[in-house]
Amino acid sequence: MENSSQVLRCAKVLSLADSILILTSAGMSADSNIPTFRDKEGYWKNFPPFRSKGLEAQDLANPWAFENELEHAWAFYEWRRRNANENQPHPGYHILNRWVDEVFENAFIHTTNTDGYHLRSGAAADRVKEVHGSMWRLQCTRPCSGDFWDEPAVPLCDLDYDTMKAANFPTCPHCGAVARPHILMFGDAQYIGHPEQEKRFSSFVQNPVDAVLLIGSSGAVPTNDYLAVHFRDQGVPVVNINLDSSANSILRTEFMLEMPGKAALEALDKALSSLKN
Ligand SMILES: [Zn+2]
Repeated sequence: MENSSQVLRCAKVLSLADSILILTSAGMSADSNIPTFRDKEGYWKNFPPFRSKGLEAQDLANPWAFENELEHAWAFYEWRRRNANENQPHPGYHILNRWVDEVFENAFIHTTNTDGYHLRSGAAADRVKEVHGSMWRLQCTRPCSGDFWDEPAVPLCDLDYDTMKAANFPTCPHCGAVARPHILMFGDAQYIGHPEQEKRFSSFVQNPVDAVLLIGSSGAVPTNDYLAVHFRDQGVPVVNINLDSSANSILRTEFMLEMPGKAALEALDKALSSLKN
């Protein structure tokens, strides 16, 4: 595939849109060195103590773990908070923010990532839905109320890297129970959700969407793929950015860009500005 001509084709589709929905998944954060933990061996290599206990990522990203393996459960998230804090949102995030603020009449970012990088890179707060939550917010483990709150502190807990056990957990300001990340975990009936973000997204999609941009979705967490399919079925063009061409198997769009997220956004941005001038 000739990448530069395909970039231009995709940029043309976007340049015709007034209203654009941007869907971001793990591949977007991968260029900022955020690991996904989908691969069991890669995950255990980072966390040897979990290998001997047979604890996989989905066992710890789980309300069960916050009841039964609290030290490990918080260690897993504390590690991820520190990792996300040591890394930076790459320039692709800033390109998207400029598109949202200046280039398109109406744009919205819907992300499955929990690293909070869209908001951390300065995305307009009323233009983002973090559908799986954010590691930079907390809620009560019980939960005793529908409240959640920002918690940017790093470090937040004590973390022993050798045992992957955390201590000094944050607590709920209302009832004193242990707090947990405001993240949708596996089998999670206690996740509070984010009614404001949900409301803003609902009102955005009530109006016509002219183009959809899907970035870095593998199909392993297909939330964004299904949204993209929903719009494709209504005749909306969908540009799919993914290093792996097999990631287009659900969507099967002709506007596939087989590139990493950051490089694709830089190339599209360049092509877009030449088209608009
Ligand atoms: Zn509470």
